[in-house]
Amino acid sequence: MPAPDPRDPLGFDDLLDDEDRAVRHTIRSWCEDRVMPHIAGWYEAGEMPSVRALARELGGIGALGMHLDGYGCAGSSAVQYGLACLELEAADSGLRSLVSVQGSLAMYAIHRWGSEDQKLHWLPRMASGEAIGCFGLTEPDHGSDPASMRTAAKREGSDWILDGRKMWITNGSVADVAVVWAQTDNGVRGFVVPTDAPGFSAPEIKHKGSLRASVTSELVLDSVRLAGDAVLPEVHGLRGPLSCLNQARYGIVWGALGAARSCLEAAREYSTTREQFGRPIGGFQLTQAKLADMSLELNKGLLLALHLGRRMDAGTARPEQISYGKLNSVREAIAIARTSRTILGANGISHEYPIMRHSANLESVLTYEGTPEMHQLVIGQALTGQNAFR
Ligand code: FAD
Repeated sequence: MPAPDPRDPLGFDDLLDDEDRAVRHTIRSWCEDRVMPHIAGWYEAGEMPSVRALARELGGIGALGMHLDGYGCAGSSAVQYGLACLELEAADSGLRSLVSVQGSLAMYAIHRWGSEDQKLHWLPRMASGEAIGCFGLTEPDHGSDPASMRTAAKREGSDWILDGRKMWITNGSVADVAVVWAQTDNGVRGFVVPTDAPGFSAPEIKHKGSLRASVTSELVLDSVRLAGDAVLPEVHGLRGPLSCLNQARYGIVWGALGAARSCLEAAREYSTTREQFGRPIGGFQLTQAKLADMSLELNKGLLLALHLGRRMDAGTARPEQISYGKLNSVREAIAIARTSRTILGANGISHEYPIMRHSANLESVLTYEGTPEMHQLVIGQALTGQNAFR
């Protein structure tokens, strides 16, 4: 029997094929080369510099809209997309957010619900990273309950006029295109809004204590006039945005475990070199109990993520199943980050190590794409048949 691999104690790798491993290797190497040397500095500065250049590089390695087919997208499997999210978030949740919002929210909305003209116009440029997208659903007064949104689109002749505010929008200030959801006389509709349209602005939200290496913005829509064909023609109602959220939540199922892996790895390594009372702290039973429990949860989470990925690929994943994954991965990642931090003692709070950054990032990841309470309500409804949302 080969010696146990502390990075893969259950043999998760054996469940992947060569192509899966190749995708993972490409993304991991790119992150190690292009992001890891800089990320702590970007985070402290509260910026993601050269985001356009990074987006083009991400496009170059096929990471943008990678699970979509055609229009310049890589056509990867859901499992491969999940592995990419894992590696990106092992670097930083902000990086994974950039890729998730681009691929799972903005590109997916156009790919799934857009006209052929909208797809041809936007998707190839978004897949290459030449154009950046954002997704405007949340409003200052309406987050978990998007059905109550106030942003409205009214007809004026054949045109649409959009008025309203969106809040906490990832990529907002750097986006070329915004997919904006608004109330119409026929319920909620999605609009493809070029960000240079008169009346559109996207002031950046500063002073964040989490996801600091990520652009987060307000979207202001002040009588933005759009041509009649700016609406996503193939969907009416909240089914549109919720279908996109399902894709992004799936990415988080994997991504959050990447952040957890990074924390656990830092703690495990530290425990083998840091000595107290004359021996490495990893030699104490209490430290080993922490490491064992974290490794258990991380690897259970990976098996669940792979199971959900296989269901996504088979077209059989149900939204509440994705909720199980999102709820579990983020909850356990936060617990792993916190326990890992204790193993590093005071060093754990330093940005010399990735743990505090991941911990703070995971607070955003816990809240966006559905808070834990929303996922508990989704699962609760599936278990009881009772809607407890209102
Ligand atoms: P609220 O909905 O006000 O919830 C506050 C609390 O009340 C939560 O704990 C919630 O679970 C609880 N609660 C609400 N209703 C119930 C209920 N019925 N039962 C029990 N508890 C309840 N949005 C976008 O549209 N696009 C983006 O790109 C985007 N990026 C983001 C990036 C970051 C860094 C962050 C932090 C957020 C982002 N969001 C984005 C917004 C995010 O999706 C919302 O913050 C989230 O949906 C929660 O909404 P809220 O913040 O308004 O909280």
